Amino acid sequence: MTNQNSRITVVGGGIGGLTAALLLARTGADVTVLERAPQPKEVGAGLLIQPNGLAVLGGLSLAADLHQRAHPIGGAVVRSPAGVPILHTRMPDYGPGLDHTLAVRRSHLLTVLLGAVEAAPAVRTLFGHEVIDAHQDGHVTYRDPDGTHQTLRADLVVGADGAGSQIRAVGAFRPTVRGSRATYIRGIIPGDDLGLEGEYWTPLGVFGGARLGDGTTYFYAAGDAAGVAAALAQRDLPALRRVWADALAPSTGVLQRVPDFDALLINDVTRVDCARWVDGRLVLVGDAAHAMAPNLGQGANSAMVDAAVLAIELAGDRPIADALRRYTTRRARPVRRVQDTADRLARMSRVAGRLRPVTRDTLLNLLTRIHPLAHRQTTAAQQEDPRALLASVAALGSTPTTAEGTKATDQPRPSERRGARRAGGAGAEHRAVPDNRDAKGTSGPSR
Ligand SMILES: Cc1cc2nc3c(=O)[nH]c(=O)nc-3n(C[C@H](O)[C@H](O)[C@H](O)COP(=O)(O)OP(=O)(O)OC[C@H]3O[C@@H](n4cnc5c(N)ncnc54)[C@H](O)[C@@H]3O)c2cc1C
Repeated sequence: MTNQNSRITVVGGGIGGLTAALLLARTGADVTVLERAPQPKEVGAGLLIQPNGLAVLGGLSLAADLHQRAHPIGGAVVRSPAGVPILHTRMPDYGPGLDHTLAVRRSHLLTVLLGAVEAAPAVRTLFGHEVIDAHQDGHVTYRDPDGTHQTLRADLVVGADGAGSQIRAVGAFRPTVRGSRATYIRGIIPGDDLGLEGEYWTPLGVFGGARLGDGTTYFYAAGDAAGVAAALAQRDLPALRRVWADALAPSTGVLQRVPDFDALLINDVTRVDCARWVDGRLVLVGDAAHAMAPNLGQGANSAMVDAAVLAIELAGDRPIADALRRYTTRRARPVRRVQDTADRLARMSRVAGRLRPVTRDTLLNLLTRIHPLAHRQTTAAQQEDPRALLASVAALGSTPTTAEGTKATDQPRPSERRGARRAGGAGAEHRAVPDNRDAKGTSGPSR
């Protein structure tokens, strides 16, 4: 299909949903994002954006804004608790601007995406609108901030509503949803002087982080070893510090800077596999289709790649069913491989005992030395060739994009754009409307 004048409903205004909205709007579609949160959320600690995600954001001319508050990292280092490197991989150079990982605050990425949404005339974002039902013919029922049920009809419904997806629940996607018993603790601490970069694999599991380029440091830690889990259950920050200090000296400085227990973000990990990603006019992207262990740092990156591939396939002149079939074919297998690798890494990072870590570390050291093997693993994690992806995404829109993925100079920065960025409060509508349109007039059942 060509997306010109088609109507698309995106369910979920997270990283996957906002990226999908922007890209689909570039293909000519009129996009409505329904997000249940009453306003944009400032939560989520940090995030590592890899070349595949950077390619999508670069193609959207958002890389420069993103880099303003971020910290580029050239490779990945895993260390033993004693600080000895056991795995060290350099990020391959996939093209200008695509040779590193970027550590950012999640809220910064969302702010950049929301700024772009605000500047996109064909996208409107309705906060405080919770989708409660959908049908494969493209109808979506949502509850608006007043509690009234409304229906919206679209040519396509994109389920970008996360691991607990309602769209997945109402469609015939044949999902398997598995809790992994893994829990992660995340946070952001003041200061970037602790030298935390990469991760340690300890008897308690992983502990890692990165500077965020704004004078703060993002950290994450496994939360499921017995002593750690007990401290979390009792919301006991001093006990958490003690347990981690016994396992890993560098954790002390980090956890001392956590002001109180509520500053920690604690998440259980879910894995989602779907036998189908498409049901009629319903299609899944991001965690809704493939939530995964965080150990490869590819969940959000994969969500952005989904959004890009979906838009690229829909931009052609094939019938919609063909385009959606091609989207699934292109995405399902590479993502499945990434999910499996992330699970393997999660298991490896937890290896305990006296001999098994030694065997593991020797094997990983070997892998580090065999460069083609390490290169192949990192490249498989990108799922699409980042350079080609950037070019395809940039070609979706009319805004010229440099090879570095930086924005064209005629694109204003979010801070320079007309009007206030945030429309806060329950049911806030966050949209850019063309001057001749009523911001509220196109909402609701009439669409
Ligand atoms: C510890 C940890 C570390 C991680 N680190 C990384 C990393 O470094 N790099 C990386 O790429 N990924 C990382 N991830 C994974 C990443 O957070 C997710 O994969 C990513 O957020 C998925 O984005 P999404 O848009 O698909 O879903 P979500 O971020 O879950 O967004 C879904 C949105 O849909 C909304 N929604 C849900 N239901 C409804 C409804 N019924 N109606 C309307 N709206 C609805 C939600 O409010 C939410 O805003 C990490 C995850 C964890 C747990």
